[in-house]
Amino acid sequence: MDLQQHLKKYAELILKVGLNVLPGDKLIIRLDEYGLPLAREIARQAYALGAHDIYLAFADDQITLARYLLAPEEAFGTRPAFFAEFMEAAYLDNYHFLALNAPNPELLRDADPRRISNWNRVLSKANEQVARYSMENRIKWCIACLPSPAWAKAVFPALGEDEAVAALWQKIFEATRVTMPDPVAAWQAHEVQLKRRVNFLNEQAFEKLLYRGPGTDLEVCLPEGHVWMGGSSRIPRGDVFMPNIPTEEVFSMPHAYKVNGLLQATMPLSTSGRLIEGMRFVFKDGAVVDFDASSSREILEDLLNTDEGARRLGEVALVGDDSPISRTGLLFKNTLFDENASCHFALGKAYSESHVRGNEMTAEEKRAAGMNDSLIHVDFMVGGPQLEVVGVKADGARVTLLRSGNWVV
Ligand code: ZN
Ligand code: ZN
Repeated sequence: MDLQQHLKKYAELILKVGLNVLPGDKLIIRLDEYGLPLAREIARQAYALGAHDIYLAFADDQITLARYLLAPEEAFGTRPAFFAEFMEAAYLDNYHFLALNAPNPELLRDADPRRISNWNRVLSKANEQVARYSMENRIKWCIACLPSPAWAKAVFPALGEDEAVAALWQKIFEATRVTMPDPVAAWQAHEVQLKRRVNFLNEQAFEKLLYRGPGTDLEVCLPEGHVWMGGSSRIPRGDVFMPNIPTEEVFSMPHAYKVNGLLQATMPLSTSGRLIEGMRFVFKDGAVVDFDASSSREILEDLLNTDEGARRLGEVALVGDDSPISRTGLLFKNTLFDENASCHFALGKAYSESHVRGNEMTAEEKRAAGMNDSLIHVDFMVGGPQLEVVGVKADGARVTLLRSGNWVV
């Protein structure tokens, strides 16, 4: 594999399909040291496409970890408002957001879980207003990943660090179609297929979905007015962009108060720098009434206790088990990849675009419509080769959507 050549194609994909950078656009790129070679390639191509400015939001894992381990308790009480105000001012000035994530799945393993969940709550609260710019697609935004040595070693423990990073790059390029002759064209074809599924599901307007698989026997009602989405999104002035690279899912919102049965996660969840394994839930009237996990149970408990909506579902997503990501055969231990290899749900906030009137409704109307609200939105995986998903219409008619993990429609 020629890393440099693939990096160029990856950068082109991120700019042309992910962000759809147009002349006059400006970018905020969040990155760490591992993202610099890719960010430099992105910068060269972005300016050549007519971008006016790139602002770097730089972070470092070790400095983040030092804060959790060594900073005094008071340091975690408040987040100054100017961070969010800065972002909001930038967004209003035609800046768009690119996150180049080099995740470190177990960075915070030794940090105090209370401190992690408290700080997450403070951050979510401080960012509540500005987060709407991306949640409601008022700006173009894109999340793409690259290997950190720690992530690569977590995925390929038997390899040395450099080999592990190279191996993970290769898998990322396969999963994102960068190894194909024309990745931009491949993504345009992929987008057409996603939109076809979206249209089918919206025409069917299922009343509920039935899930059956190992440890899973779940009924998920879909509220009236729910909208399936997938692939690209659109900002108000009309530009189309792809928020996630990769993305293989079509998704909507479950009814926050009408989910019942048993649900067993099929992959570990990496959140807040910890890995939660073996998650199981019991749902009654939309809420998690019982749960367990074979590791990091206390992180899961904190997550569920974030607020009232953290115990309810805000997203239902369907993904075939034969996506390019599944075909890599790899557990990436990273949500962006693993969620796109697998059907999943999210605990917490529903995307407002998942409801026909999501961007206009008041909080009270959203609640009445069955649309969940929370400070969190955390995806977890339920797919796999044994999952069956059946759609049920209002007249009782049944349509099998996925069998043995794969699309049948
Ligand atoms: Zn999703
Ligand atoms: Zn999600």
